[in-house]
Amino acid sequence: MGRYHGGMATDRDPVAPLARATVGPTPVLDRLGRRLHDLRISVTDRCNFRCTYCMPREIYGRDFAFLPRSEVLTFEEIERLARIFAAEGVEKLRVTGGEPLVRRNLPDLIAMLAALRRLDGGPLDLTLTTNGSALRQLAGPLRNAGLGRITVSLDSLDDATFRAMNGVDYPVARVLDGIAAASESGFGPLKINMVVRRAINETSILPMARWARREGHILRFIEYMDVGHSNGWRLDEVVPASEIVALIDAELGLESLAPNYPGEVADRWRYRDGDGEVGLIASVSQPFCSTCTRARLSAEGKLYTCLFALDGTDLRAPLRDGAPDVELAAAIRAIWRVRADRYSELRSEATTNRARIEMFAIGG
Ligand code: SAM
Ligand code: SF4
Ligand code: SF4
Repeated sequence: MGRYHGGMATDRDPVAPLARATVGPTPVLDRLGRRLHDLRISVTDRCNFRCTYCMPREIYGRDFAFLPRSEVLTFEEIERLARIFAAEGVEKLRVTGGEPLVRRNLPDLIAMLAALRRLDGGPLDLTLTTNGSALRQLAGPLRNAGLGRITVSLDSLDDATFRAMNGVDYPVARVLDGIAAASESGFGPLKINMVVRRAINETSILPMARWARREGHILRFIEYMDVGHSNGWRLDEVVPASEIVALIDAELGLESLAPNYPGEVADRWRYRDGDGEVGLIASVSQPFCSTCTRARLSAEGKLYTCLFALDGTDLRAPLRDGAPDVELAAAIRAIWRVRADRYSELRSEATTNRARIEMFAIGG
């Protein structure tokens, strides 16, 4: 097998996209042999936080022009696209943002997405990534609507560090309460995402690991990434995954775990003396583009084939112009078939300076 799992694919598809979409899909492969398996759906570009690494408040201040409501996909439009993606072989949906919980009536959308089916008739894996601030109110309704799993982002248990990193002085106790509400509503085990920045929240690594283990959450450390172009990213602020593993291993003892499925983003580790697991998302020090099966739909309906893409393809215009499903399916297949993205494997001084979409616009 070559460098890319499944070997090198080709553009040559014996069945024309439109015909293929009508006869029922064979999973579409991109130019590097990767199938389309996950769809991340950004339901809003707005957020009640201003995390320094994502939407620094100096740039995303009061006068920042977020998308007007008319440009954001409606729930019906999102559901229709998600259904078409599922018919193309997508098996996992992640609802994200911006902050997805600021989108009004989100449980209604979740109920619509929960009713969709995979090609084999089984339920889709339906997940949500949130900053946790509204979970006390919404965890129950989200559960009742059919949401499968929740990931909460939390960068520190230290109140001062957390308030500084979220950019709006938001107290950590309220996110912890949201996390408790999610557990009470039956969402456990929760995944907790922690972005690690050198000298900013490095000292929170061990307290977070001890806490997550005690509470039964799966903690995932994320290397600080050069997404967008407003966070002033520098390589020396990245704490490599290997360093994080060594730090936790020295105190708590870790051993490597096999991935749950091929292409899993997080490198998994478990505690040697029993319960508990941590994940490392090492997209800077150990890029995983070769198994990247994720597409991203922005709040305004653009399809992106990479987190670091320069631009996406507008699906909203054909959707609103009355294109039938078969045409939208053909467009999605055509976009995926020519995909050759592997930004993290090519990351360099030159690439980190080039323009790209902001993360809050297309979700993590
Ligand atoms: N607002 C939600 C949240 O924070 O969970 C969902 C959207 S947020 C863009 C998705 C994920 O991206 C979060 O876990 C966040 O920590 C992560 N993220 C944002 N900017 C990042 C960066 N520069 N490097 C690494 N992860 C980042
Ligand atoms: Fe908002 Fe999430 Fe970005 Fe933080 S990481 S600013 S919570 S979208
Ligand atoms: Fe996927 Fe792009 Fe990230 Fe590579 S850089 S893992 S292709 S999103």
